[in-house]
Amino acid sequence: MSKSVQELYGSLVFNDKIMRAKLPKDIYKALRKTITQNTHLEIDVANAVAVAMKEWAVENGATHFTHWFQPMTGFTAEKHDSFITPVGDGEIIMEFSGKELVKGEPDASSFPSGGLRATCEARGYTAWDPTSPAFIKDGTLCIPTAFCSYSGEALDKKTPLLRSMEALSKEAVKVLHLLGMEDVKQVITTVGPEQEYFLLDKEDYKKRRDLIFTGRTLLGAMPPKGQEMEDHYFGMLRSRVADYMHDLDEELWKLGIPAKTKHNEVAPCQHELAPVFDTTNVAVDHNQLTMEVMKKVADKHGFVCLLHEKPFDGINGSGKHNNWSMSTDTGKNLLDPGRKPVDNIPFMVSLIAVIAAVDEYADLMRFSVATAGNDHRLGANEAPPAIISIFLGDELTAVLKAVEEGSFIGKQKRVSMDTGAIVLPHFYKDTTDRNRTSPFAFTGNKFEFRSLGSSLSVSGPNVVLNTAVAEELSKIYEILKDVKPEDMEDAVHELLKDYIVKHKRVIFNGNGYSDEWVEEAEARGLYNYKSTPDVLPVLIENKNVELFTKHGIFTESELDSRYEIHLENYCKTIHIEAKTMEDMLCHQFMPALAAAIDQSVSLALKKKQLCESITSKTEQKVIEKLSQAYDAIYDLTEALQADIAKAEEIEDFLACAKFYHDTILDDMAKVREVADGVEGMIPEELLPYPTYAQMLFYV
Ligand code: ADP
Ligand code: MG
Repeated sequence: MSKSVQELYGSLVFNDKIMRAKLPKDIYKALRKTITQNTHLEIDVANAVAVAMKEWAVENGATHFTHWFQPMTGFTAEKHDSFITPVGDGEIIMEFSGKELVKGEPDASSFPSGGLRATCEARGYTAWDPTSPAFIKDGTLCIPTAFCSYSGEALDKKTPLLRSMEALSKEAVKVLHLLGMEDVKQVITTVGPEQEYFLLDKEDYKKRRDLIFTGRTLLGAMPPKGQEMEDHYFGMLRSRVADYMHDLDEELWKLGIPAKTKHNEVAPCQHELAPVFDTTNVAVDHNQLTMEVMKKVADKHGFVCLLHEKPFDGINGSGKHNNWSMSTDTGKNLLDPGRKPVDNIPFMVSLIAVIAAVDEYADLMRFSVATAGNDHRLGANEAPPAIISIFLGDELTAVLKAVEEGSFIGKQKRVSMDTGAIVLPHFYKDTTDRNRTSPFAFTGNKFEFRSLGSSLSVSGPNVVLNTAVAEELSKIYEILKDVKPEDMEDAVHELLKDYIVKHKRVIFNGNGYSDEWVEEAEARGLYNYKSTPDVLPVLIENKNVELFTKHGIFTESELDSRYEIHLENYCKTIHIEAKTMEDMLCHQFMPALAAAIDQSVSLALKKKQLCESITSKTEQKVIEKLSQAYDAIYDLTEALQADIAKAEEIEDFLACAKFYHDTILDDMAKVREVADGVEGMIPEELLPYPTYAQMLFYV
């Protein structure tokens, strides 16, 4: 009999329930304290935890353990060690110590370090993150860890995230204490990432080198039908896809990932999965795992799961919505406005801190979502614009206006929804409508950062968000710290007023896709970084270096190294795309085109042989058109090759990234236009790979 969902859920996770059952009481208590209050963990506690963890893992079929970490590749990394220890006479025992649990020493030299490697040894350390539960994957006990260099510099995506969560908590607690919430000891940021993806047939995928090497198609004309009928969004799940989603849910549930919502997305073959939100670092770990499990389960079902931001030109790409909020350890969601927001001082202060943070650090927010893949989406009228602004909705905008003008605003009336049909249940409307064009939208009791690309680790954007909000809270603390309790309410109102006047330029409730917004945003002095090479340098601008160093998130050398890694990554990505395109053109497309020309030529000759008077007008037209394209593609490919050679010679990373963006991408677009223009004239059987029409509508 198959297991119930409750039995299945978390069955591969060393979770709180297991810990309580398996650990001696004092050890359990000490570990809980580390997890909930971020206290240091003693080695004897670690030893006891290790023994229990190993026992549980072995009971559940594990033979190995690994320190699971998130280097700057954007993927996860693992090196497996078995539990076995020989004890002579050919016997072994299964062993795992506290030392092995808390610390690992993978060689750091083959992971991106952006110059940090030059100043330190190759040695790297992984350190157990006890706040994210260990789990079993494919017979291996996986221990979530942070990864840093010998001298303690972060080489990964988890370390700065944990630092930023602590910074935010510290600053928020100080402010909340001033506001009379003295019982709060910790503020936790929460994240719920909605993940979009494509499913393709594995056999199709295997024939497309562009998908294999780059994750996106570099050639391919639009099929007769795209997404214009809007018949896929929330459409009925086809059984093959439904089976996949069912399996995926189960695999995720076993890992304690609360997969909740699933549906078809706008583009054909595109789908979405959203979990229930969790503490930020757990949500980040879970999202990395989700992406991995999505791919694995797809393979079992004869699919390939594409997580690239723009797999198909002309068809919506995939993003990831980062829902974010802050809660106290006493259980209050600080971004929940309640019935009367204006009287909810902690809410108003939290809200204004977020608004100020986004206004002052919009450049970093844009930076945090910048990748070669995401450049195809942002500002392309399917995803938010590259300009970062905030959507608040009418109600909160009115509240802020009232505060600014010092006028009174009464209790918000709940508006009942009238569908006009008596049999339908009556319910209250949400306080905000949806605005799909806004990059950063208030959605009832949280903010939704919508500019993330689908393949991105959600760590980076949350590091920026947490740190920027921590900074604004620390400034607010400085303003309020000497105010007497009886004067606090007035002082807060004064502060809110000042902040609204100063930061309201970042609030925009209108259509983010319109041209007028681009103009208006410029007039408001908002940033508009159009591409990745444009925005990457903001990471090392003084104001941002100050922000990160002040709160202990990054040192200057960590920032320099990350800047370099991002630039290098961008260049490498486009380089591989350009080389793959060249390869497909020379070895696949041009030969297919030549064969198509040949077919027309031989048909014309055969006709002539048969009877002089039969015309070959059509063949001549086809031959002419295809030959012109053939020549053009040859010349444009040569130009691309020459520019790739030039790019390889550029030593300065930023100059190189700009060259890839301005010149190589342009070369690629030019040759693609010609190739896609004649693709439809090439008999399908001559192309060695499937077309868009074949790939997108047969799953
Ligand atoms: P929509 O498609 O309307 O944006 P979904 O239900 O698909 O909504 O996703 C909303 C996401 O927001 C879910 O992952 C949900 O758990 C998450 N979420 C809800 N409340 C919070 C919160 N307080 N903090 C962070 N995320 C939240
Ligand atoms: Mg959403």
